[in-house]
Amino acid sequence: MPRSAGRHFLQIPGPTNVPDRVLRAIDYPTIDHRGPEFAALGKGVLAGMKRVFKTTDGEVVIYPASGTGAWEAALANTLSPGDAVLMCETGHFAALWRKLAARLGLEPEFLPGDWRHGADPEAIEKRLRADAERRVKAVCVVHNETSTGVASRIAELRRAIDAAGHPALFMVDTISSLASIDYRHDEWGVDVTVAGSQKGLMLPPGLSFNCVSPKALAASKSAKLARSYFAWDEMIANGRNGFFPYTPATNLLYGLREALAMLEEEGLENVFARHARHAEAARRAVRAWGLEVLALDPREYSASLTAVLMPAGHDADRARKIILEAFDLSLGTGLGKLAGKVFRIGHLGDFNDLMLAGTLCGVEMGLALAGVAVKKEGVRAALEYLAECRGSRQRAAA
Ligand SMILES: *Cc1c(COP(=O)(O)O)cnc(C)c1O
Repeated sequence: MPRSAGRHFLQIPGPTNVPDRVLRAIDYPTIDHRGPEFAALGKGVLAGMKRVFKTTDGEVVIYPASGTGAWEAALANTLSPGDAVLMCETGHFAALWRKLAARLGLEPEFLPGDWRHGADPEAIEKRLRADAERRVKAVCVVHNETSTGVASRIAELRRAIDAAGHPALFMVDTISSLASIDYRHDEWGVDVTVAGSQKGLMLPPGLSFNCVSPKALAASKSAKLARSYFAWDEMIANGRNGFFPYTPATNLLYGLREALAMLEEEGLENVFARHARHAEAARRAVRAWGLEVLALDPREYSASLTAVLMPAGHDADRARKIILEAFDLSLGTGLGKLAGKVFRIGHLGDFNDLMLAGTLCGVEMGLALAGVAVKKEGVRAALEYLAECRGSRQRAAA
């Protein structure tokens, strides 16, 4: 491919654009991971991640692994062969987690979904009420389903489990929501939260996380699935002193320390508001183009990405290819049964109004190049909304 001048627009919903501050932080000599300087780094990032998960009772474990490793860790540490787990078919990532559960020797049951809604609190409550023998040991939900742009309502799901009076562990994948969308591990009674480095946390891929409640930790004492690399006991014991049982991804931890500082400087609530604003602007653009957002329930719109339905007769991947070649802008592909039918705009991580404007310009021009008859009103609708938000914030500050 010929060289493209200027910055690439990496607007897939993860990995996200890594800010220069994080890149510079990673570019620093690797230190002794058994030495005193490392202990301070380890303790600092574990404490910072607790604040991001919003936990005081929970333990945080950091793996040198992609998010999939943390999925496996959540299940392998708490469950035994043949255990039933209730999972919710929200989309492609939920389906992958289910496949992983089956390969570990668990018995996942999938509550069916249409890939346009989040996990259904009523369906979960009904299923758990019917489980008189308490065979279901865990309920697993993807908070922000990255294949569809639908965010499940975790607090309501917790209330549904409680309403059924069921003791199952509650596990939530926040790989594409943590540090982008409001999330509260303790308050929402989550037992294991799964997260990854390369989305809202603004890092390159390669780190993933478990946040573990006291109840999950207790379950891990009697759980029989085999685990070694992912075992919590040694990770947590070493973590008390800021260390790891094996060589950690030291340079990514430098990056994590910097990313946590950036999140704290901006303030998590401001980070969430920024993501919500960009998501609303993106949806206004989509509608003004005359296209449809995949998510159907406004309570479940994702703040970190927008999945856009391609009009009949057009292949989303062909349009994505044209946009990449013309504007050096990467958009997310349709995954699983959505292949060719949707494209996804990632608006999460280190991202601002003008980056969104540039992204939407690329989509608007690119769709026209691809021969999709869109109204050239999307960018304008988004810009008007962003300007309105700025105006009301200025007035509030005055
Ligand atoms: C990206 C993503 C994953 C997969 O994580 P990897 O880092 O690719 O292993 C899982 N779940 C969700 C919701 C994701 O967005």
